[in-house]
Amino acid sequence: MTIAVYPGSFDPITNGHIDVATRAARIFDRVIIGIYDNPGKQLMFALEERVDMAVKAVAGIRNIEAIPFTGLAVDFASRVKAGVMVRGLRVSADFEHEFDMAMMNKKLNPELELVCLMASPEYQFLSSSILKEVARLGGNIDDLVPGHVAEALRKKEGA
Ligand code: ADP
Repeated sequence: MTIAVYPGSFDPITNGHIDVATRAARIFDRVIIGIYDNPGKQLMFALEERVDMAVKAVAGIRNIEAIPFTGLAVDFASRVKAGVMVRGLRVSADFEHEFDMAMMNKKLNPELELVCLMASPEYQFLSSSILKEVARLGGNIDDLVPGHVAEALRKKEGA
């Protein structure tokens, strides 16, 4: 059985993330979305909120779950016995960052394989940070996130 982890901040989870997780779940037996407790960037949502939104987003998919983690993503992968780490790649800008991280992760845990899935065309432009900006300015985000995430964003913005 091949277990894959899909780590990230998920602040909040978007349809782009869900697309990557769903496609990974067709390749691997089990996909565990790992939500960094403290990614070192300014966050809109607390860890429990990010986990809660992700859990709800994948509730209908049998072999995907979402749990929080602390510390290195490679150690998280070992703890849950994952042999693969999944990441999503959007435009070329993602590549350099992913490549650097992949090299470091390989050094930290040579056993763990990285699988990058290309973002689907409809989500190439979608990032949590742009999404939050659009939500803040009152734009329509209904096609970009599940309903409960759109609701949580509207609440944060007091809209
Ligand atoms: P980070 O680990 O940088 O905090 P995020 O939580 O924003 O990343 O995203 C987690 C992973 O999902 C990263 O590999 C990121 O490139 C990928 N990702 C983010 N948005 C999309 C998208 N729209 N389509 C495909 N992959 C995405």
